[in-house]
This record gives sequence, structure tokens and C-alpha cells, in this order.
Amino acid sequence: MTKYIFVTGGVVSSVGKGVSVASIGRILKNRNISVSVMKLDPYLNVDPGTMSPYQHGEVFVTKDGGETDLDLGHYERFIDIELTRSSNLTAGQVYLSLISKERRGDFLGGTIQAVSHVTNEIKESIRFLADQTGSDVIVVEVGGTVGDIEGQPFLETIRQIRNEVGRENVFYVHLTLLPYITATQELKTKPTQHSVKELRGSGIQPDAILCRSDYPVPDSIRDKISLFCDVPADAVIPLLTVDTIYRVPLILEEWGLGDLLTKSLGLKSTGGVMDSWGRMVDLMVAPKDKINIAVVGKYVELHDAYISVKEALNHAGLFHEREIEIDWIHAEDIEKEGPEKLLRLASGIVVPGGFGPRGVDGMILTAEYARRRSVPYLGLCLGLQVMVIDYARNVLDLKGANSIEMAEECEHPVVNLMPEQKSITEKGGTMRLGNYPCRLVAGTKAYDAYKMDEVIERHRHRFELNNSYRESLENAGLRASGLSPDGKLVEISEVQGHPFMVGVQFHPEFLSRPGRPHPLVREFIKASIGTFREGDQPALPFSRGNVPWKRNGGMAKPNGEV
Ligand code: GLN
Repeated sequence: MTKYIFVTGGVVSSVGKGVSVASIGRILKNRNISVSVMKLDPYLNVDPGTMSPYQHGEVFVTKDGGETDLDLGHYERFIDIELTRSSNLTAGQVYLSLISKERRGDFLGGTIQAVSHVTNEIKESIRFLADQTGSDVIVVEVGGTVGDIEGQPFLETIRQIRNEVGRENVFYVHLTLLPYITATQELKTKPTQHSVKELRGSGIQPDAILCRSDYPVPDSIRDKISLFCDVPADAVIPLLTVDTIYRVPLILEEWGLGDLLTKSLGLKSTGGVMDSWGRMVDLMVAPKDKINIAVVGKYVELHDAYISVKEALNHAGLFHEREIEIDWIHAEDIEKEGPEKLLRLASGIVVPGGFGPRGVDGMILTAEYARRRSVPYLGLCLGLQVMVIDYARNVLDLKGANSIEMAEECEHPVVNLMPEQKSITEKGGTMRLGNYPCRLVAGTKAYDAYKMDEVIERHRHRFELNNSYRESLENAGLRASGLSPDGKLVEISEVQGHPFMVGVQFHPEFLSRPGRPHPLVREFIKASIGTFREGDQPALPFSRGNVPWKRNGGMAKPNGEV
């Protein structure tokens, strides 16, 4: 019998509901309770795949090719599980399914209503995940904030589920914010009281309240919330702003949420000790030498657009005991100011995924700079494609080389639309998505990183390296080091003789875990630690370990070429 923990948010959004849910999952897993997670998104888009990263941040890709909310990334990283598209349900999906059924005539002339047609549809999806995973517990995050109009059918659904599965099998957690008034130096509980009142208006009485706060929460405040919101005082849990999000499971466990959940839901709990997680967090925050990594992209002002990339770099930094200082650089600024100036301090460069022509010239210049100056480079999807374009233009001397995504009529389409993409006209969910195998070529950097013959990675793209140019690129030193098993698709390319210049058509960042960095990112950071360039002086993190000015590969020639 699956139990359910429903997590709602009050007062304001963006106070860390996703991280709280991921942390609840982590503490349950540590108690040997099997857990899966689901995010309910009340917006009307079918999925975030077609939404602007400015609106929605990163699109997290699941193994089965779901384009989902970035919170699923937190869930996977914290709990160390792999989710599927069933873990993200949007109102758009609910209505699309319902209206398709109506058009098919499934309702035999009946009137379709919010209750119970919409609510049943939501319930079915939650039940489906429970059946599919067979987990002891499903933690369900309701996106948005209590009081949002579009969230109402979702709240109504989670209210109904309690009666259906039995009160003892459901636990409601409400996350709120305690604002701090500087003038009077006090935390205020009124917004929390109002938000709980609103939640009760939907028929839901929270069993625990997590109170986000920038300041310590005195017992008097907890007592007040307990009194006004009718929640036991020990179920009012302060969640202070922390140095790293990975500390949140420790805090929740320390405040007794693990015990409260297992007791209330009658779960058999063994273990529960967070020692190794705690040691990992201690290492994360321990003072470390810094290493400067430039991320050159299109949406860099919004770090959420690259959240898995950021986390993957941090995980690799943790492995090498380095603090990763990310320099977020706008690709368009590289076009205006040139790479020399903006990338001077970077010990390593990442060009992450992206779509459309804006900023691409800056990314190509970035790849050229990394290649000529022997700066370690990791290209993720579009980052691989710009690397190929630079190589074709500047090493093969094919000046008209481009991706047909950027210039449809270009003279040398070195990055081409994949054949199966040619007939596709619909935008939503039609890319090459999710897990595909990749065979590694022995004797390459990629192989050395993975030390495996075949790996499985997650994808999200329409374009690929054009096979007509593969041989000439290989002959000129751009080696295909990972291929699809049929050999038709280049999945990884690397520049021979460079300390580390590897581009991948997939997204390794989605598979990175705090205690288990992705092999390619790990090796990229290792190479970056080994980088030293003129201009990189002691302010840079080279006080520890091996002689830093010894590169992993050969030094650049005086003209800057590798
Ligand atoms: N726009 C490129 C493509 O569709 C790259 C995609 C990506 O970076 N995720 O192939």
C-alpha cells in the first residue's frame, strides 16, 4: 500500500519547495523506505520543452525522454534515483488528455467537469506512478502557491485522495516563508497564518509546516504558528537559509521530520543515520582552493537555465577538492568584446546546450579560443556543435561551415538535421530525447574517462555532426570518440593533442550526483586544474597539489595553436 506525502507552498514561490521535497525523499531513502517523487505543475503548457528558459529555467530530461521541470533534477540528485516522465504532470497534459477523450466520444455525451473529470485525471496519474514504481511512499509536490487559481483542481485532488486511501496514509506538508521586518527586528507569522487559512479553505489541514527564514526562528514563533495553524509545535520546522542546498535533508532530520513522517504514516523505518551525507556536506562547505570555470551561454543571467550544469561542475569540484567559481559569460559579450578579454581567467570553459542563432558566433569564438590556447573545454550538445563548426572553418578552412539550425542555406552544413527529424513539423516533444547508447572508441579521452565500452546518456537535440564531413574532420584531428552503436551518429568528438577538448551530443550533467560526479565532467575539471596560462596568477587556485603550470597535455605553441 503506497503512502503519500503532499507538499504545498504558501506566501511566495521560489523559497525552495523542490529542494524540500527532494530532501524529504532523501531522509526517507536513508531510512530504507522506497520512495518516488512527482511534481504537479498547474500551468497550461503541456511540458516545459517548448517554454523559454527565461520563463522556466532548465528543461530536465528524464531517461525515457520526458521534458520536465527542473525540480526533477533536484529529486534525482538528492535521492539518487532515475525518474520517468510520469513524475511530472502539468495542467496542460491533464486537459489535453481529457479533451482528446472527449473528442473520441469516450464520455458518451456527458458534461465534463473540473470535479470529477479533471480531478480523476490527476488522480489517475498519481496512482499510475504509485503502481509503476511500487514505492512505499510517493512525495508529491504541488507547484505554485496556495491561492493560485490554476492550482485549485490539484489541491482538490490531493484533498480527495486522503479519503480514498485512508487518512493514516496521507501526510500534508506546507512550506511557507517568515518575512523579517528590519525596523522591528522580528519575524512575522501572519502570512503563514493566512496561507494555512487559504489551504484549509481547500479542505486541507497541514500536518507539518516548514518555515523558510533568513533568521533563526525562536520557539515563541513556532508556538504561535502551532497555535494559530493547529499544528503540533514539533511539526513546525524552521528551515533557515543554508550554505548549500544539500544541507536541507540534515536539517529536516535533525528537527525530527523523519520520525514524524514515519510515525504518522506507520512506515517501517530502519537506519535514518545521515552520517555519510553529513560528511559529504562538510566537505562541500570546507574551505578549498578555487578554480575559475567559464560557462559561455545564452541565458547566463538566469543560472536556473543551467542548473544541472552548475551542479555537475560542483560535484566534480567536490571530488577534486576544489571550489568551482563559475564565471557566467554571455555568448553575445564574447562577440562584442572578444574571447581574449573575457576568458582570460578561465581555467576551463563549458559551452552548454542551447537553441537558435543568438550568441552562437560567440560560442564558436569561444571554442576557437579554447582550441588555440589549449584551455580545457567541455561542449554539451550545442557546445559540441560549435566546436565542430570552429574546426571546419579554421582547421579545414571551410569558411562557409555552419549548422543548418543557424544558417539553413550555408555552404558547408557540418552540423545537419538528423534524417528522422526532417519530416517533423510539431515542436513539442519531437526532438531526439532521452536515453541512447553510445559506443566509446578505445584510446580516447572519452574512453579514459568512462573506462567502459558502452555508456547510456540522455539526449535532447535535432541536429548532429554531418557524416559527409566526418572523415575530413577526423583526418584533421577532430576525432569521433563516441558513436551510436550503428556507427551512424557521432555522439562524442574530441580534439586530438589538446589537454581536454571534448564535445558531447548528449547531456552528461543530468546523470551527475553529489557523491558521484559524471566521469566526463570529473576529467574536465581535472584537466582544468592542470591548466596554467599566462595571465593566470596566484589569485587563481593553484596553491595545492601538483605543479599547476604543468598541463595535462602539451604546451601551446607560441602562436597559440595546440
Ligand atoms: N540546438 C541544437 C540541436 O537541436 C542543440 C540542442 C542542445 O544543445 N540541447 O541539436
